[in-house]
Amino acid sequence: MKILAVSDQIDERIYTPQVKERFGEVDLVIGCGDLAYEYLEFLVSALNKPLVYVPGNHDPHYQPGLPDSRAEGCLFLDQRVRCVKGLVIAGMGGSIRYHPTRINQYTQAQMYLRMMKIAPALLWRQLRYGRALDILIAHSPPRGIHDEDDRAHIGFSAFTDFIRIFKPRYFLHGHTLPMGNLSPRVTRVGATTVINVYSYHLIEVEP
Ligand SMILES: [Zn+2]
Repeated sequence: MKILAVSDQIDERIYTPQVKERFGEVDLVIGCGDLAYEYLEFLVSALNKPLVYVPGNHDPHYQPGLPDSRAEGCLFLDQRVRCVKGLVIAGMGGSIRYHPTRINQYTQAQMYLRMMKIAPALLWRQLRYGRALDILIAHSPPRGIHDEDDRAHIGFSAFTDFIRIFKPRYFLHGHTLPMGNLSPRVTRVGATTVINVYSYHLIEVEP
């Protein structure tokens, strides 16, 4: 199945009336944060396919705890695990805390605590089915993979540990800019393919 993942930047190759001709074969859309919800809602109505997303640290309309501040017609997946189109997908939004009053920013310790909310469901699936999940969608990269050393773009250690423990097939994120060999878009970590979605990325996934 084909997945169109979007993040951080509105892409004019997508935000166009021709999107159906270019991306009509896509089965699922994934949003990794920092996008206007009009863009996500446009994709849902134009492609008529399910869209799951997590909030980043710069979503213009997102207010944690307010259901009304979510993208209409899209599945909000922050701190949740859902089966969508036969794939088990978990979501974990937010970035590292670098500003004391901005929303959806967390310290390294807080992200470990946030991950605890989905850990029981994933451990159960690991024991029951031998695989915890197929895809983790996040906004921030894992610490040490596609992240940067400045305080706004450090990745989460909780995500690096998550990959080691739960071994998702894919880890999708945004928040940092891919920069050729310095910060590649795709990195293999054990059984997991880590992809920096920034702008957009098309993924072919075995069902
Ligand atoms: Zn961000």
